[in-house]
Amino acid sequence: MRLGGPARYVIEVENHDEVADAYSFAEQAHLPTFVLGYGANTIGHDEGFNGVIIINRMKGIEITQTPTDILKSKYESQSDSGTSFEDHKLGRTASSVSEKEVPSRSTIYIKVMGGEYWDDVVDYACKRNLTGIEALSKIPGLAGAAPVQNIGAYGQEIADTLVEIEVYDTTDHTYKTLSKSDLHFSYRKSILNTTDKNRYFVISLTLHLRSGEMSRPFYNSIEQYISANNITDYSPQSIRQIVSDIRDSKLPDPLSQASSGSFFKNIYLNDADAKLAESKGYPVYHGKDGNKINSGWLIEQAGLKGALLHGMRVSDKAPLVLINESAKGYNDLKAARSEIVGKVYDKFGYWLEQEPMEIQ
Ligand SMILES: Cc1cc2nc3c(=O)[nH]c(=O)nc-3n(C[C@H](O)[C@H](O)[C@H](O)COP(=O)(O)OP(=O)(O)OC[C@H]3O[C@@H](n4cnc5c(N)ncnc54)[C@H](O)[C@@H]3O)c2cc1C
Repeated sequence: MRLGGPARYVIEVENHDEVADAYSFAEQAHLPTFVLGYGANTIGHDEGFNGVIIINRMKGIEITQTPTDILKSKYESQSDSGTSFEDHKLGRTASSVSEKEVPSRSTIYIKVMGGEYWDDVVDYACKRNLTGIEALSKIPGLAGAAPVQNIGAYGQEIADTLVEIEVYDTTDHTYKTLSKSDLHFSYRKSILNTTDKNRYFVISLTLHLRSGEMSRPFYNSIEQYISANNITDYSPQSIRQIVSDIRDSKLPDPLSQASSGSFFKNIYLNDADAKLAESKGYPVYHGKDGNKINSGWLIEQAGLKGALLHGMRVSDKAPLVLINESAKGYNDLKAARSEIVGKVYDKFGYWLEQEPMEIQ
């Protein structure tokens, strides 16, 4: 959002040991820490940050396990099962291994270091015809931040493919592995931005991807793009191109326009509230993640699409996005936010919730 003053210290870490060193430096200096990625979803305050910003600069993407590796390790660890790995390949499955445990022939596990630029990870997967994250193309940020708010777009979210993350735990100064179920993912949430905010430094992620294509129906705007352009190629590379085109047509380029992407979260409703909303004529989407009202629609209906409020522009292409055109400081953003939240509440009775984190 290009707001906020300087930080007292910034430490860029390039290996595991440097993570522990960075935290021990902050502890000895009695200073708070804040982990920053690319800053695409973070807002600074005018007074700056009297603490230590730590940035993950660890790089690397590798395929760690193929289906054959997984089966081999399962069968080797079950030497008393009476079935060898060679037997299994011939279809003679050991009764002690359930079908559920046997990975699909096309499953691939990739390990990604948190300092990788997220879109390079998507590019890596798509170039290898691996499906699972192609709809998450062009989301600005580093891979280490992806699980924090469970990044999502166009029908996919990182929770769909994440297996585990490797972290440094600042409470007991140890390196740990947290599985997907430990992270309690939901819409734009995980323990990393709620109950355990600022506790863990994400070092790497392991994702499971699959050779092949996303299954239909795709997200509405992808379907519309496909029929408008007569597209029949649904390979990861093709969907990546479609998503990139859709995004380019409505989202600001973070390099030339200061924004945090969606500034507000969408509204999720239980079934009774969704029914009520529909009876009032509000458009409610019923997806696999629940009943949703697009907050951009609420902002538009409140007459704010394209408005310039205290130097912050409500995007006329995607009203959920605020663009910093001429805000003088954090207070301008705060005033614009209050105005939008207030107008939407007065008209619809829904409170909009901010998506980006603040450095404090
Ligand atoms: C134009 C634009 C479009 C966007 N579109 C989308 C979208 O479609 N879907 C979506 O979900 N998001 C979207 N976003 C938001 C943003 O891209 C994502 O939230 C992204 O994951 C942020 O990555 P980052 O590296 O910039 O994180 P930062 O903003 O630097 O950090 C975000 C949070 O993660 C924490 N964090 C970062 N790295 C680590 C780490 N290694 N360990 C522990 N905590 C860490 C930070 O402390 C902070 O709380 C968009 C943003 C912009 C500007």
